Amino acid sequence: MDARLIALEKQFSRSELTPIHAPSLAEQQLEVWLKRDDLLHPIISGNKWRKLKYALNHALSLHKTTLISMGGAYSNHLHALAFVGNALNLNTKAFIRGERPTVLNPTLQDLMAWNMHLTFVSRSEYRQLRLYKAFNALPDLHSNEYWIPEGGAMDCALQGVREIIQEIPIAYDVICTACGTGTTLAGIISGVPETTQVMGFAALKGADFLNADVAKMLSTQQSIRKNWQIQLNYHLGGFAKQTPLLSKFIHDFAQHHAVNLEPIYTGKMLFGLYDLIYQGYFSTGQRIIALHTGGLQGNR
Ligand SMILES: *Cc1c(COP(=O)(O)O)cnc(C)c1O
Repeated sequence: MDARLIALEKQFSRSELTPIHAPSLAEQQLEVWLKRDDLLHPIISGNKWRKLKYALNHALSLHKTTLISMGGAYSNHLHALAFVGNALNLNTKAFIRGERPTVLNPTLQDLMAWNMHLTFVSRSEYRQLRLYKAFNALPDLHSNEYWIPEGGAMDCALQGVREIIQEIPIAYDVICTACGTGTTLAGIISGVPETTQVMGFAALKGADFLNADVAKMLSTQQSIRKNWQIQLNYHLGGFAKQTPLLSKFIHDFAQHHAVNLEPIYTGKMLFGLYDLIYQGYFSTGQRIIALHTGGLQGNR
């Protein structure tokens, strides 16, 4: 590991494991524990660090000086990348989906403050950029530049995500995470024993494609895993949509457990998990880990 990354990671906090106490859980003798990756760092969103860590290490080992990536105008991924790039004295560039807004939102303002060079691209150009998946796949890349695909979805991201698993000191039956690109889910599947059930909750509507995407990411691993599934019905209207029910859930969750959730990923994942628990989906006595992937910057 590059010394600069080791030094940076020294500034991170421990990602704690917090038990959730609720009458509905006690009734079914279920345990839910939150793995608090939101606590890792005040700015870098939890799972985004996990996914970027080994890509950054790869880029540094190749003596790259510029990191290029892509994302939406509220992207947690770009937010983490811009901060880390700035902290490591690397240049960062990003393609942002859609037209440049007349007033920049807080996420874009942060990106600018951390010296990320922004290029706004049309939706069709953005879709084209999604096709470039490897660090050297972007056309016209200069020799000092390193490409990081959308959401940090690359092979080496799985290695960083597996470190989450290594930090969980208790046994458990089920582990849950929110899914955007499914990279975090794939990393978790690749890191747990086959007897552990892994559940993803899709943030996007119509995200069936995730099943193939996750299977593809796992195809580089040694064995074919069947101990995972993706819940596609808890998108609550689609990416970045918010229903009154979800807002209430997030509000109540903060009141009862003093844990903040955001409505795009972790809010929906826990909403879905609670719904499955309510439906009696899980077996008595099961212990469930829910991964809090952070992302609270997007709440602003
Ligand atoms: C990006 C993000 C996700 C989705 O991660 P993927 O690896 O793309 O599936 C989940 N939660 C939060 C808070 C995120 O920012």
